[in-house]
Amino acid sequence: MRRPRPTEESRARAARITQALADLLPEEPLAAGPTEPGSAGERGPRGGDCPGCGEPLHPTAVRHGVEFDACGACGGIWLDAGELEALTSGLDPAPGTGAQNEADLRARVPAPVSRESDVRYRECPRCREVMNRRNFGTISGVIVDECRHHGLFLDVGELEEVEAFLRAGGRAVGEAARARATARSMPPPPPQLETSRPVANESVGASAVDVLWNLFFN
Ligand SMILES: [Zn+2]
Ligand SMILES: [Zn+2]
Repeated sequence: MRRPRPTEESRARAARITQALADLLPEEPLAAGPTEPGSAGERGPRGGDCPGCGEPLHPTAVRHGVEFDACGACGGIWLDAGELEALTSGLDPAPGTGAQNEADLRARVPAPVSRESDVRYRECPRCREVMNRRNFGTISGVIVDECRHHGLFLDVGELEEVEAFLRAGGRAVGEAARARATARSMPPPPPQLETSRPVANESVGASAVDVLWNLFFN
């Protein structure tokens, strides 16, 4: 179907609609879409509400020279993207001195305090999206709340547990465990299909051969 040719009247109507739409739009340009993790700090002021208890976060805490948001009510801390790395850099043990495997690691680090009684999904203080729960370092047992765009929230005591995990060499042991898990998930066919299918084919094949043999030679 061909479009109708524009007339003076339709052009004027289009101009009026365009102007009306322009009047509806806000003066300020809309905020940009999702930003790179590294630029998260430019999105606005620090602070926001504590994901743990809803009280305001205060950008006052300093540890190892890194400033970050903390909650004065529940003791939780919010780390913007990159701040955890800054806080924990240099904690990994010298090569050869850290834990060699998970059993070795368990012997060196006390088990994290279980906080499973209050499992719930929490909102990122920056974007209000529900955060993911992640086992820090794959095997630490410290369950942190993470927004993949903005950072992560640690309950009171969890930063100390993360530090103990890293000091004992947990980062390398966790990376090895993750690599093994990835390798295990690679082979596509589940083993029970591999064994059951040829058996089924054999029995079908054998009975078909029997039928043909009987047809032709009996
Ligand atoms: Zn709090
Ligand atoms: Zn976020």
